[in-house]
Amino acid sequence: MTKICIYCKRNLGFLDGKLNLNDGNFLCTSCAKKAGINTRSGTSLVAAQSISSANLIRMIEGKKPLTSEDMMLIPHREQNKIRIQNFVPTNCIGNLIQFSDTTQEFVIGTGDTADIFEYKNIVDYELLQNDTTISKGSIGSALVGGILFGTTGAVVGAAGNKRVNTDVCTNLSIKITLKDTYRKVCYITFVNEELSTNSSAYNDAYTLAHNCISYFKVACEMVQENSNNVTGQSFNAEELRKYKELLDDGIITEDEFRQKKKQLLGL
Ligand SMILES: [Zn+2]
Repeated sequence: MTKICIYCKRNLGFLDGKLNLNDGNFLCTSCAKKAGINTRSGTSLVAAQSISSANLIRMIEGKKPLTSEDMMLIPHREQNKIRIQNFVPTNCIGNLIQFSDTTQEFVIGTGDTADIFEYKNIVDYELLQNDTTISKGSIGSALVGGILFGTTGAVVGAAGNKRVNTDVCTNLSIKITLKDTYRKVCYITFVNEELSTNSSAYNDAYTLAHNCISYFKVACEMVQENSNNVTGQSFNAEELRKYKELLDDGIITEDEFRQKKKQLLGL
């Protein structure tokens, strides 16, 4: 996997000086220096690893890092603003939506109306054309319907055997349902006027929407992968506890338990 500095976006090779942050991101040595970290001191490097990426970016830009208490005291909208300021996209669809696979967040809209959400809060996402669902996906389930093009480039079919009017598109948008206290539904609109499905304007909009759906699919896969890893770990802990009981009850020997423990923890 390529390692990229969270601030300057430089590709970091094997020989490049870099800081492995605890949140899984990387910071190059020259950006670390800009953040005021003494890169020659082992202790200050270790301490810097546990600073959040968002705070390191603030420090590079000469701003005071925020503590978690600071964040709690700030109202939701303000928190969003700070999170958006520190947001570094890995993919964008124009300025409609930006994704960060690094922090697993996405930003919808720009300026004062911009909103930020975590991938893990996606309930589902669907592509709608003239209020009909063309495709739909969610965390833990495959994309239903897929993206179906006819020979002319128009949508020819839809999920659940529904037929879409293939000649005219008046609305093409993605609806995202969220597990979020402040906002439950978001729409990203790609077409909001009457367009012939043979027109290049429609095809451009459809391609954008298609890309956007792919990013949501990846986002949901990332969340699924995280939860699989967590379940895997807790499963091992459960298993291990069972063997500990067997040991305590004298059913298995100390040696057998130690062997099983090694195996379960992948040591
Ligand atoms: Zn850098």
